[in-house]
Amino acid sequence: MSLFPINLFGDKILRSKTNPVKDVDAETIEQIKSMFDTMHNAGGMGLAANQVGLQKSIIVLDLSMVKGYEKTKPMVLINPKIVSISPETVFLDEGCLSLPGVRGKVERPSMIEVMYYDTDLKEIRQEADEWLARVILHENDHLNGIYFTDRVSDEIRRKVKRDLLDIKNRKINFDYPVTEKELK
Ligand code: ZN
Repeated sequence: MSLFPINLFGDKILRSKTNPVKDVDAETIEQIKSMFDTMHNAGGMGLAANQVGLQKSIIVLDLSMVKGYEKTKPMVLINPKIVSISPETVFLDEGCLSLPGVRGKVERPSMIEVMYYDTDLKEIRQEADEWLARVILHENDHLNGIYFTDRVSDEIRRKVKRDLLDIKNRKINFDYPVTEKELK
């Protein structure tokens, strides 16, 4: 098992867009394995490559610990693109491995269609709803430099401001390996 340290709120790479993956070589496969290890070790259900310092458009997810998703297989989404969203939205409580301890309700489309490539670079189109849609949208946001806290109400954003600053300054205890604070 090999773990990446997880980038935290404030790290530059989390505000930058990732690059499309052009070929899935042995190094990329190793990185994807380590992304799964890192995510499982931290108890997360989704992880974007730039959360572990890789400027690549890759998402891993595993919803098998979520009620109703026990039989859902872990997924790798390469170069994902949200191709359609439902007009209906839903508020769900989100958290993030890059923002440990911070939670908030986020309104997002309840159903989506996503296009992505698997590790054989086969193109896949898939509909997703409920938690699967939620995790894909959350991680896809990461690939575009967006935090879920960018999408919460002003009231929640005010409430979590202090916590985000503490995370940025590494003033809390972390349950898993994280990156060191970036020097300016
Ligand atoms: Zn996240």
